[in-house]
Amino acid sequence: MSLRKELIEVCHKAYQNKFVSAYDGNLSARIDSSKILITPSAKCKGSLKEDDLIVIDYDGNLIEGNAKVSTEAKIHLFAYKSRPEVQSVVHCHPVYASAFSITNNILDQPIFPEVILSLGRINICPYATPSTPEVPNSMKSFIAHSWVLLLQNHGAISFGKSIEEAYFKMEKLEHFAKIMSVANQLGKINKLNEVQLKKLYEISDQVYGIKLSNKEKF
Ligand SMILES: [Zn+2]
Repeated sequence: MSLRKELIEVCHKAYQNKFVSAYDGNLSARIDSSKILITPSAKCKGSLKEDDLIVIDYDGNLIEGNAKVSTEAKIHLFAYKSRPEVQSVVHCHPVYASAFSITNNILDQPIFPEVILSLGRINICPYATPSTPEVPNSMKSFIAHSWVLLLQNHGAISFGKSIEEAYFKMEKLEHFAKIMSVANQLGKINKLNEVQLKKLYEISDQVYGIKLSNKEKF
């Protein structure tokens, strides 16, 4: 499947799943060491077509396409420059994850083994004025070891080694945020203890092929 087709498919999914509303969000994929494919500014992700996607360079200049570059392209460029293994970036405003970005970030806790292994720590970047270089600056302390990030009073970002992976990390983050929202109303939240975590980390490489760095661990 072409990169354009794949990116459009996840744009449609992000809109259908209400991870974005109206013109919100931006999704991208690395083409090569000089080009990035990205959604244009002010277009609804639900009706975007392959030809609507634009190509930019690593300084954010438009190379191909007839639309405006989003001011949030800075988030994507920062991620690609900081992490050579990242091939796709998804930025959305999903309801539950964004709600935790404006209250307490109770998502950064060891709850589900699968979430710990696939998303790692869910850090929150301090509030930054949208569209400004403050946003990538706010991501600086976490970018090297995060697969998902909350942006305070803004939304969420996910990174992946493929378009599918970046999208699924966003989907998983929102699903986890939904569960945590319900659990928070039901009663005390049971966290995994140190022994349980240690056992999980011991098998993660062998069973799941996932090697977590110390910063990704609780
Ligand atoms: Zn945003």
